[in-house]
Amino acid sequence: MSADVVVIGAGLVGSAIAYGLAGRGAKVLVLDGEDRDFRAANANGGLVWLHGKGIGLPAYYELSRTSVELFRGLSDELADSTGFDLQLEQNGGLWLFLSDEQMEQRRAFLTRLDQETGRNEPEWKMIDRAAVSELLPNVELGREVVGASYGLRDGQVNSLRLLHALQAGIVHRGGELRGKTTVGLVRREGNGFRINFGSEQVSAAKVVIAAGLGSKDLARQVGLDIPIRPERGQMLITERLERFLPIPVMGVTQTSQGTTWIGTTNEDVGFDNSTTVSASASLGAMAIQLIPAMSEVKLVRQWAGLRIMTPDGYPVYAQSESHPGAFVAVCHSGVTLAAAHAGPLADSIFAGRLTSFFDPFHQRRFDVPKAA
Ligand SMILES: Cc1cc2nc3c(=O)[nH]c(=O)nc-3n(C[C@H](O)[C@H](O)[C@H](O)COP(=O)(O)OP(=O)(O)OC[C@H]3O[C@@H](n4cnc5c(N)ncnc54)[C@H](O)[C@@H]3O)c2cc1C
Repeated sequence: MSADVVVIGAGLVGSAIAYGLAGRGAKVLVLDGEDRDFRAANANGGLVWLHGKGIGLPAYYELSRTSVELFRGLSDELADSTGFDLQLEQNGGLWLFLSDEQMEQRRAFLTRLDQETGRNEPEWKMIDRAAVSELLPNVELGREVVGASYGLRDGQVNSLRLLHALQAGIVHRGGELRGKTTVGLVRREGNGFRINFGSEQVSAAKVVIAAGLGSKDLARQVGLDIPIRPERGQMLITERLERFLPIPVMGVTQTSQGTTWIGTTNEDVGFDNSTTVSASASLGAMAIQLIPAMSEVKLVRQWAGLRIMTPDGYPVYAQSESHPGAFVAVCHSGVTLAAAHAGPLADSIFAGRLTSFFDPFHQRRFDVPKAA
């Protein structure tokens, strides 16, 4: 068995890259693990979010912005080729605040971000309570809500459909996707690689490690030390309701199908994706504080997923120096970044060299000499 590129991991990151590579004419084989693996792609909120991202690493703002801009094209292309309507909405998003002090802190933070990115025209506004009510005409806001930051380019997508459409798109473009194929070994073979899974093996000129929390061990085999850790996020899901939130509100977002998700938490609990009563209580209280009518709504589910976090929270995209042709891609906003992964990142991997656009994301930024 052989392929031009083997992509390890068929979550949102691996699927988006493989879809992009297959579209450029590469013979792609995607190998995905077991049903019981940790899979962030099945547990997220589906936000395609921009405003507030990139503090300390302006390149991350540019990457997210590029993806947000490319998303409509990706969505249309997938709808045409696979028939999946991704239910993409990009009409803005709100982050509500409960005091004037919080509003001022947010304004200062977003202004600093604009200075760092050199952006002259802000893609956000601070708006008062009355302006929030105009955007959410069917919502009685909690009495403490004083206003919001309003991201003009934010939005949401049905992320399960996005995942299925990307996977269908890989096959549509001539690629192959295999499940229940946990990769154990990645080894140099001539100018390429030999990749072992179970009793089988495949040879490939390039390998892309996009296996979420499973990436660390695989990356080490090609000389890349990726410092990732799990971060648990819990969410509550409500019954379906008539649409009352026309745009996503951070913390309480209604999907186009009517369900509303409340969340999420950010917990450092290792590889534990169980749910807790304390999280359900605090998330419920937060939702009622923002929108009191949430107290009348039935909850139908609670779930937890594990984010893939680096020490600074930003992605790692890198090609191994000791094993050229081996790439790694991990991040915690794989929904938002899907269009950048299927577009510019796939372009770079196809060409065999990450462009300078991706330099700030190399994992060498974590190689700080240890103090004696
Ligand atoms: C609660 C929560 C909310 C979130 N909300 C958002 C959001 O609103 N917007 C946003 O942009 N992002 C969000 N995210 C993040 C987003 O879900 C992830 O960034 C994205 O799903 C990561 O995808 P991935 O492909 O890297 O990893 P995963 O989805 O975890 O996939 C990794 C895949 O690799 C496979 N694998 C692992 N090891 C091996 C191996 N050895 N061999 C073969 N296959 C292997 C696994 O089986 C799995 O299928 C959220 C995450 C969480 C947890």
